[in-house]
This record gives sequence, structure tokens and C-alpha cells, in this order.
Amino acid sequence: YNSELQRSEKMEIISQLAASVAHEVRNPLQVTRGLLQLLEERHKVVVPNTENYYKLAIDELDRASTIITDFLTFAKPQMEQVHELNLAEEFKHVEGIIVPLANLQGGHLEMSVPRSLRIMGNSSKLKQALVNIIKNSIEALEGSGVVKIWAYEEHEQVVIHIADSGAGMDERILERLGEPYFTNKNKGTGLGLMVTFRIIEVMQGTIKFKSQKGVGTEAMIRFPAAR
Ligand code: ADP
Ligand code: MG
Repeated sequence: YNSELQRSEKMEIISQLAASVAHEVRNPLQVTRGLLQLLEERHKVVVPNTENYYKLAIDELDRASTIITDFLTFAKPQMEQVHELNLAEEFKHVEGIIVPLANLQGGHLEMSVPRSLRIMGNSSKLKQALVNIIKNSIEALEGSGVVKIWAYEEHEQVVIHIADSGAGMDERILERLGEPYFTNKNKGTGLGLMVTFRIIEVMQGTIKFKSQKGVGTEAMIRFPAAR
């Protein structure tokens, strides 16, 4: 009868632990990556048949970092509280992560989120969900195009649209979104949307994707408006 409580306490501990681990592990990953790159540059001629080992090691470190990013970009080792959130504020933080990424990979961002929209949720979880969707959009642009984000309130729901002019998806891919480890990318984790769907569900929200191959993709997310 109190197993529910125990379960949520355990979840809380796991989630705090994960946040600490993510924070602690990121730095050594970065340092090791840097050292490997230095070694690779300085020891161009090494033992025969080992030339690729540096690259493999760096790729594997990058993979570990990407997995952390998909789960724990905003994670902080503190209680996971649910608050009333101002959507525009949340998007401002998300922009801080996404704009540099867009500058790096190509493509740009157009955002129109009015300051009046409020929903209930955990700030770091919500931001993680949004980043994972927008990151996919930027990656789908393959160097050029636009990601448009807009939001409004309708029938006591806050509605968020994230639309890109990227590669798009066919029916076969659309129906597999959110499946763990489902990826079509060389260096994908296939974990981003799984995490995102779970977060939106916990927040009593819904998400739908519309997409057309070669034209683009639009995600529509609905949350109950806070009042
Ligand atoms: P990953 O990004 O690591 O591949 P995700 O769960 O984030 O994992 O996405 C799964 C797959 O869904 C992607 O590999 C891609 O094929 C497809 N996808 C998701 N979002 C988009 C998008 N905006 N445009 C095109 N394809 C997308
Ligand atoms: Mg992704």
C-alpha cells in the first residue's frame, strides 16, 4: 500500500544520482578527448594497424557525451519539483543551448512565444524535452533552412509548434518515433524522443508529428494551461 510512495522516493534518488553522475562524468570525458586529440596529432606515425584507434576512442567518448546530453542536459542534483512555469522563460534557456548549436551546424531559429503562457511542470525536464525536439529539427536541416517555434493558448491548453524545413520523414519512420534506440543517424542514440515522450506524458501533455519527406516536419505539443 505504501509501495507507490517508496517507488517515487526511489525514482527521486535515482534521478538525483543520475544528475550528479552526469555532471561529474562530463568533465573527465572532455579532458580525455582533448588528450587523445593531442596524442593523435603528435604521434602520427605509430604502431602499424593502430591508426584508427585514436579516432575510435574519440568517437566512443563523443557517444557517451551524447547519451548524457539526450537525458541530462539541464539536470541538477536537487529535488525534482513541479512549479508553475512561464513558457517564454523556459524557451529563453532552451535558446541558450540551441542557438550555438544552430550556428555550428547551420540553419536558423525563429521563435515567437508570448510571455503570458503558463504550464505546470519541472523546469529541467521540460527544457530537456524541448531541446531534444529542436535538436532533431536542426539536425534535419542538414546545414540550411529554418526552425520555427510558436505557441499560444487555445481551449485551456497551451499549444507549442516546432516546425522545420528539413529532410522530413516517411510514414515508416513516423510510426517508430520514441522507440528506444531507434535512430537513422550515424551518431544518433535513438534515445532523444523516448525521453521526450515520457516527459510530456508525465506532464499530462500530448505530442503529434506531421512530416513530409523532403519538405519538413512539424511537432505539435499540448499541455494543460496552468491557472
Ligand atoms: P536520434 O536523434 O539520436 O536519432 P531521436 O529519438 O531524437 O534519436 O530521433 C529518432 C529518429 O527520428 C531520428 O534518427 C530521425 O530519423 C527521426 N526524426 C526525429 N525528428 C526529426 C525531424 N525533425 N526531421 C526528420 N527526422 C526526424
Ligand atoms: Mg535526437
